Amino acid sequence: MSAINRVLEANHKNSLHYDPREVSPHPRMALAVLTCMDTRISLPALGLKVGDAHMIRNAGGIATDDAIRSLVVSHYLLGTNEIMVINHTDCGLMKASESDLHHKISTEAGKPANASVKFHAFHDVNANVREQIEQLYAHTWLKGRVKIRGFVFEVETGRLREVPR
Ligand SMILES: [Zn+2]
Repeated sequence: MSAINRVLEANHKNSLHYDPREVSPHPRMALAVLTCMDTRISLPALGLKVGDAHMIRNAGGIATDDAIRSLVVSHYLLGTNEIMVINHTDCGLMKASESDLHHKISTEAGKPANASVKFHAFHDVNANVREQIEQLYAHTWLKGRVKIRGFVFEVETGRLREVPR
C-alpha cells in the first residue's frame, strides 16, 4: 500500500474518536518552534504534545522569508510569545556546498530549475543557529515582542544544547 493510502486509512480510524472541542488553533504553551524537517526531531523528542506548539519546518530550520511569515502569524494572530530555533547535527545541508547541491540535483533532474532555489547549505551548526536567530531579531515585527533562543539537537544523544546568541 502507498504511504498516502496508509495515512488515509489511519486518518479514517482517528476521525472516529476526533472531538473538535478538544483542540484549539492557539498553541497551549504559546510556543513556536522553527526547526529542520529531519525525521529525528519529533514532538516526543521535545516533550511536546499535539496542540502545545507551532512547528515551522523546512530543510535546515532556516529563518527564510516564508518561515518569518509563519512566525509573524504565529505571534500576532495565534498568541505565541517564545520562539525556539533548532538546527541539528548530521543535517543534510552540512554535507555539500550550495553549488554541489545545485550541480547534483540539476544533473539528476536532467534540466535546470525554472525558478531560483537557495538551499542554505552550511558547515558550522552553531554559527548557523546564531545566523537564524539574528535573522529573526532583525525583523522589526519580532524584535522586542518575542523571546528567541537557539539550540542544536544532537542526533547522537537526542539532547538539545543551547547556542548562546
Ligand atoms: Zn536537517
